[in-house]
Amino acid sequence: MTAQRFDIIIIGGGHAGAEAAWAASRLGLSAALVTLDPGRIAAMSCNPAIGGLAKGQMVREIDALGGLMGIATDNTGIQFRMLNLSKGPAVWGPRAQADKYRYAAEVQRLLGTCAGLTILAGEVAAIRVDKEPPQPEGAEIGQVLPSPGPRVPASSSRVTGVTLADGTEIRCRAVIVTTGTFLRGLMHTGADQRPGGRFGEPPANFLSASLASLGLEIGRLKTGTPPRLHRDSIDFARLQVQPGDVVPHPFSHLNEYSGTWKPPAMQVPCHLTATNEEIHQIIRANLDRAPMYTGQIKSVGPRYCPSIEDKVVRFADKHEHHVFLEPEGLDTPEVYCNGISTSLPADVQDEVVKRIPGLEHARFIRYGYAIEYDMVWPSQIRATLETKAVRGLFLAGQINGTSGYEEAGAQGLMAAINAAQFVRDGDCGFVLRRDQAYIGVMIDDLITKPPVEPYRMFTSRAEHRLHLRNDNADQRLTALGRSVGLVGDAQWNAFSAKLDLMGSAMALLRGARIGEISAAEYLRRPEVLWDSVIDLVPSAASVRTDVGREVAIQIKYEGYIGRQQRLIDRFCELESKVIPLETDYATVTGLRAEARQKFLKFTPRSLGQALRISGITPADVTVLAIHLDRRK
Ligand code: FAD
Repeated sequence: MTAQRFDIIIIGGGHAGAEAAWAASRLGLSAALVTLDPGRIAAMSCNPAIGGLAKGQMVREIDALGGLMGIATDNTGIQFRMLNLSKGPAVWGPRAQADKYRYAAEVQRLLGTCAGLTILAGEVAAIRVDKEPPQPEGAEIGQVLPSPGPRVPASSSRVTGVTLADGTEIRCRAVIVTTGTFLRGLMHTGADQRPGGRFGEPPANFLSASLASLGLEIGRLKTGTPPRLHRDSIDFARLQVQPGDVVPHPFSHLNEYSGTWKPPAMQVPCHLTATNEEIHQIIRANLDRAPMYTGQIKSVGPRYCPSIEDKVVRFADKHEHHVFLEPEGLDTPEVYCNGISTSLPADVQDEVVKRIPGLEHARFIRYGYAIEYDMVWPSQIRATLETKAVRGLFLAGQINGTSGYEEAGAQGLMAAINAAQFVRDGDCGFVLRRDQAYIGVMIDDLITKPPVEPYRMFTSRAEHRLHLRNDNADQRLTALGRSVGLVGDAQWNAFSAKLDLMGSAMALLRGARIGEISAAEYLRRPEVLWDSVIDLVPSAASVRTDVGREVAIQIKYEGYIGRQQRLIDRFCELESKVIPLETDYATVTGLRAEARQKFLKFTPRSLGQALRISGITPADVTVLAIHLDRRK
């Protein structure tokens, strides 16, 4: 039997895989999405929410580039909130509570509309290449921290296909691996350990060894999830209500441009409660049964998203911690307890939950658990997400050490754009800079500072965050999405029309007077909002709301943005100084041994990237720059 053949094979139907499949199809390629259970494509393993601070900006960026996540969220969100509204617009973060079942069904429906996309059920056991790449020194699967030693040099071996666990062979020219938490996944609740990719699903046990045999150094990280409770057993009347925004903001730009968008799903509130000192005592008394503290869990979890046992130990002076009760959907009784992620034994979880106000009689649908899984240290990928070891092999999502649906989706999209270029042209180079997108910040961070804990996006990671706002994601990225072929005509035409409207609105504001000054100058005052300008300048009422608000933000930030632009220009200069791949660091005279090792390991593509590698000093980069100048 002849093997099936595709341009691209995507391994895994999580958030990275779904976005990659959508993009690959829209770029005109034939793609196969091979996943363990197609019925679980785009399942939300953890919190039933999309977006939030910095993550919301990334969803807007995915949408501006022509991706899927914003559309699916708008179509299924059951509560929309703009976070951080009390602060400046640069750090506003759109967030939506998703109906997790409708969200997954909507992504599956959207993927069903993709021409050239085949969805296959199966476990990929091995990646096939044309020739074996050189082996790394001392490779070991499942190292908890990245080893400091030099890595294998870039190889000329290429992907040729994959082999499934049942022996089926499928051929292709590029592979995108998006295996999430499934590689050799091990779940923990107290002393109970069982293999699994997430609750109710088996792990994938073969692929790690195949990736290691290709010369990739495999690491191991950990994450965790809280209990789910039955809605009818919670005393909501005693809890603080957390409603959504009165006027919800959509994630999708096309919905925003329409000016009339309303969430199609019914909107529901969340509720707030808290732990207390009695609960903290119980947790302290049971730390000797907590896998995090008994040594049963060896890998590192996210510090920024700690388990409740971790919070009680690390923040011993805090007498309570918030618990947000979030509905997981309209047609399910499951309620997610945001804030008490835990791997404590089930009987301790019982004792903890029944002491939380409002949860005295709560019934568990599922206990919290932690999971350890294999990942690939991302110093081994390029900014295009292609591995350095094997041409045509791309990695995206949790396998690169990140955590979160948005981080995964963004990487899936970027990997697919580059894999498509690779299939067409034999090479790829679609990279976003740090001043262009949070997506650029994330990938640059991953490849220059390998995460020692699961990587999540924060606004504080972006040095150009005044520029990387959620409102201007389209102005930063839609032209780029169009140039690579992802942004369709409807989105492009609506975006172009918006730019025209912004130009006219700007002219109107500069021309209209409010007393002695122009409406534009008036808007610059910190306390003045767009809505108050409409009251004073009647002609401004004809400006579309999203256009007016965005012009107002631009005017307010003009001074800062001008200053930031000068910094960005300087930064771009360093970024444009390319380091040839064939640079022989052994011949760079005066380079510190540690810097030489780091350059060998990370193979930076520009002097800017070299400077951002952890442990590299400006002096190291100057030595390298002099060497490169001499060689010219
Ligand atoms: P996933 O969504 O995990 O999808 C992986 C896909 O790959 C699945 O479809 C699986 O079937 C498929 N697959 C795997 N191996 C193979 C194979 N060999 N062959 C075929 N198919 C394969 N994120 C947060 O931001 N905060 C949290 O607190 C948090 N907690 C979490 C707790 C738990 C217990 C879990 C399981 C996840 C948690 N997450 C959390 C992570 C979040 O779920 C992921 O970041 C996100 O889903 C990653 O997306 P992904 O596409 O990389 O992988």
